[in-house]
Amino acid sequence: MSFSRKLSFLLLLVALASFGPGCKKKDQDNPPEQPAAAQAPAIPPQPVPPFDAERAFKDIETQVSHGPRVPNSAAHEKTLAFIQAELAKCSKDVSLQSFTSPGYKPGEVLKLTNVLASFNPSSTQRILILTHYDSRPWADQDPNKANQEKPVPAANDAGSGVAVMLELARQFKNNPPPIGVDLLFDDGEDYGKDKVDSLEKYFLGVKYFVKTKPSNYTPRFAILLDMVGDKNALFEPEPYSVQSASSVVSEIWGTARSLGLTHFRSSQGPGIEDDHLPLIQAGIPSVDLIDGHLVGATVTDPERKYWHTTDDLPKHLSPATLGEVGKLLLTLIYDRLPRDIPTL
Ligand SMILES: [Zn+2]
Repeated sequence: MSFSRKLSFLLLLVALASFGPGCKKKDQDNPPEQPAAAQAPAIPPQPVPPFDAERAFKDIETQVSHGPRVPNSAAHEKTLAFIQAELAKCSKDVSLQSFTSPGYKPGEVLKLTNVLASFNPSSTQRILILTHYDSRPWADQDPNKANQEKPVPAANDAGSGVAVMLELARQFKNNPPPIGVDLLFDDGEDYGKDKVDSLEKYFLGVKYFVKTKPSNYTPRFAILLDMVGDKNALFEPEPYSVQSASSVVSEIWGTARSLGLTHFRSSQGPGIEDDHLPLIQAGIPSVDLIDGHLVGATVTDPERKYWHTTDDLPKHLSPATLGEVGKLLLTLIYDRLPRDIPTL
C-alpha cells in the first residue's frame, strides 16, 4: 500500500464521483431501496470452526524462507506454487489469472499471476476476501540508506494475509461455509514507487481482476487483509472503507467487540491507499482490514517501525494476532453473515 496521504482525499472524491451521489454508501438508519439480493432469505448459521493460528504462523515463515516475493524472482514463483498447492488440497475451484505489466526498466515485463479459490460456488450470497502475496522490491522506508534498494522480506506485508487466508481455506474444506466465499491472492500490489508514479504501478493484480471479471460476478462486499500479524496490531475502521461499506465495517467491529478481541478498536484509523480502491471504483463495497498505523511509521513504538524496510520479519508478528483475525473472519462467515448478509 502507498504512503502518500495527500492524494488520498482526491482519490476518494474520484472514487465517489464514479458512483453517483450516495448510491454505494450504505446507511443503516436510512436504508436505500432494497436491491434484489437483499430480499434473499437468511441462511441458517453453523458452528464456528477453530482457527489454527500456529499453523498460519508457519505459513508466514515458509513464505519468508522463500525470500522476498518480488515479481519475476524465483521466490515469487516458489510462493505462487506454494499457495496453489495448499489451495488445491482444499478446493476444486482454484483458478489462475496470468497477465503481464510493464516494469520500470526499458523493455522490462513483469509476469504476474492472481490466484482465486472459491468455496460454496453455487451460493448467490458471496463475499470476496483478498490479500496480496507479492513483496515490495524496494525497502524505500528503511532508515539505513544502503538498504533502500533491497527488497522487503514482507513477513507482515503481506505474508500475514496469505497465511490467514490459507488457514481459512483449510477450515472451509473441513466445514463448507454456509455462504459463498472467494479467496483472491493478488499479485503486484506493492510495485509502485511513491516518488515516481503515484499509484500507477500499485494494485496491479486487483486492477486486472476488476478489468476482467465477468459482469455477473458481484460479491456483496470484499474484505482486504493487509498487515494482520503484528504482535501489537491495532485494527481500526479505515476511512475509505467506512465511505464504501459502513454497514460491513459496523458488522466487523461489532463482532470483534462481542468476541472481546483485543486488537480491534472502533476509533477511526488513517486513510490508506490499498487494493480496496480499485474494487470500490468497480462498485464492490470493500473494507481494508489493516494495521494502518504501521504505514508511514507514525507509531511511537520502535518495534513497529518496520513498514517497507528490510526489518519486516516474523519476529515482529505473533500467532495470537493471526488468531484474532482468523476467529473474527470465521465467526462472520459461519455465524453472523448467514443471518445478516441480506441486510448489509
Ligand atoms: Zn506494502
